[in-house]
This record gives sequence, C-alpha cells and structure tokens, in this order.
Amino acid sequence: MKAKILSMLRETDGYISGQQLCEEFHVSRTAVWKVIEQLKTEGYKIEAVRNRGYHLEETPDVMSKAEIESLISTKWAGCGVLYFPEIDSTNTYAKRLGDGGADHGTLVVSDKQTAGKGRRGRAWESPSGSSIYMSILLRPEITPNQAPMLTLVMAQSVAQAIRKITGEEAMIKWPNDIVLNKKKICGMLTEMSTEIAWINYVVIGVGINVNTESFPEELNKKATSLYLESGRKIQRSQLIAESMRQFEHYYELFIETGNLSAMQEDYNRLLVNRDRDVRIMEPGNEYNGHAIGINETGELLVCKEDGQIAEIYAGEVSVRGIYGYV
Ligand code: ATP
Repeated sequence: MKAKILSMLRETDGYISGQQLCEEFHVSRTAVWKVIEQLKTEGYKIEAVRNRGYHLEETPDVMSKAEIESLISTKWAGCGVLYFPEIDSTNTYAKRLGDGGADHGTLVVSDKQTAGKGRRGRAWESPSGSSIYMSILLRPEITPNQAPMLTLVMAQSVAQAIRKITGEEAMIKWPNDIVLNKKKICGMLTEMSTEIAWINYVVIGVGINVNTESFPEELNKKATSLYLESGRKIQRSQLIAESMRQFEHYYELFIETGNLSAMQEDYNRLLVNRDRDVRIMEPGNEYNGHAIGINETGELLVCKEDGQIAEIYAGEVSVRGIYGYV
C-alpha cells in the first residue's frame, strides 16, 4: 500500500483526497494517515490540506522497498525488491535466493555493504547513504558460454540509465565498468551457478557511486561519483528503476537473438576504449593494441601491433589505457 500511495502521489500534480485513498485500498482514514505520517518521517515532504487532500512536494534521496517499488515500471526486471539498510554483499544474498528458488528478475538492494566484492576477489568500497549496491537474479535459458554477454547487457543498460537520469555522458570501459571523465563510477560482478550444459541462475551485481562526496586515498585517482562530476545530488531509487527499465529492454533483445547483435551499435557508441590505444592484461600475457569495438558476442576487437585482429574474451582480462585507467 505504501508503494502504491507513493506512486499515486507522484502521478498527480494536484491533491489526492484521503477519501480517494481509503476507497482505493479499502482501509480507514486513520490507516491512510498512518502511512502518510510514516512517509513524512522518512523524509518525504507531503502537504496535507483540509478538504483537498495530500500533495507530494518533494522527494528526498530515500532508498526503501516502497520507494523503489513505487518507481519500477517493468514487467519482470526488479519487480520483487528486497531492501536492506546493511548487508555483507548483495551478490551473496542474491545467490542464496537463487539456490532457494526465487523468481527471475528479483532485485536485492542495499544502502551499505560490509563485504562488497569486485572481480577476482577484489573489494568494492561500499559506504552507506550515497551509493547503489544492487544485484539482480536471472534464470536465462542460455548456455553457460553465452552468460558473459549478460554483463555487457547490464553495462549498456546502466550507462543508458545514468545518461537518461543525469544527462552526464557516461561511457563503458569494456566489458563492464562505467566511467565518467575517465574515472570509474560503476563496477559490476557477474556470478553464476551452472551445470555442464545449462544455467541454474545468474546474478549480476552493480555498484554505482552516486552521491559519494569523497573516496579513500587509494581510490581517489581512479574513482569518482555522479555527484562529484555533476555537482548535483541524484535520487538513487530513480536511477535503480531506470536501470531496470533499460535492462529489461536490452535483455529481451539479447534473448531474442542469442547474442549482442541488436545492441552492438548502441554499445560501441558508448565504448570509451573505442578507437583508442589500449593495454591488454591477460594472465601471463600483456600487450598493446588499438581497440576497434565489440563483435556480436561481446569480444573486444583489438588490432595488435603486428596488424592482426585479436578477439578478446572477457573473463580473466583487464583493459587499461596506455597512460592510465582509460
Ligand atoms: P578490471 O578492469 O580488471 O575490471 P578493476 O580494477 O576495474 O579492473 P573490478 O573488479 O571491477 O576491477 O573492481 C574492483 C576494483 O575497483 C578495486 O580493486 C578498486 O581498485 C576499485 N574500487 C573499489 N571500490 C570502488 C568504488 N566504490 N568505486 C570505484 N572503484 C572502486
């Protein structure tokens, strides 16, 4: 009821009467009033006028199950939301949900992670009150070797969502980091449970530095936030909902074609490495080349110094600029 009341308040320019809300939810006026009071204590500015009703004046950067659900407008992506003020890792929790049979599209969101994870056992800095940590559970009918493409689908979706919500020119650093002005604002971690020929589930975790005001010394050079780059605070729940909307769209294109052909152009347009010299860091093998773009299956095409084109498979590889992170 709270999420529905919020969306109703958001959809009206004017006022919604208490009577209207009572009828909609078949509850008493006191019950409606209690929800409104609760919303106020969470930071929403709601004006109550006699004989007219309630009006939402201002939404703060609230992250809660109700706020996220009231903004989600998808068919399945993020339709079931589990929200935690604090968690060890949203990916770890989503994997547990996957083992327990939870639905495709379930979304785990937290305000803080105590053990946020990056790729290959690295840590993801996850303070409270400013960032997005979310993991979506997927049950795709694809083979395990197609799964790495899903990370690119998410990178494309989040980059588009950031552009739409903030107007900032977010770019993708292949395969799945998002950068703004050459610094990292978002990282992703895909994990899965598979048998030899099929997938039980995939979990894609996304960490976005949204309203972060400062970073620990060791991250300063490489990391930034949407706030630090744009000077504006952003409502995290809106960015979550828009990311889910974009993800549902691109995911369905991916499932229809079985590859990235339908979004290859969109992805390459946002690819920060495109037409740049890059350093490819494979375990035990590092070399320079010129990045061309991704192919239909998400490999990065790189023209090596000897003129040969290498197709680089995301996995154990890292890509850097020749002189820095990008
Ligand atoms: P790769 O190109 O191999 O993916 P990466 O360094 O970007 O390299 P990830 O696993 O995506 O690797 O992310 C983990 C790394 O990101 C950490 O080792 C740290 O350097 C950096 N990092 C950790 N927390 C944050 C954060 N909140 N924002 C930006 N960068 C972070």
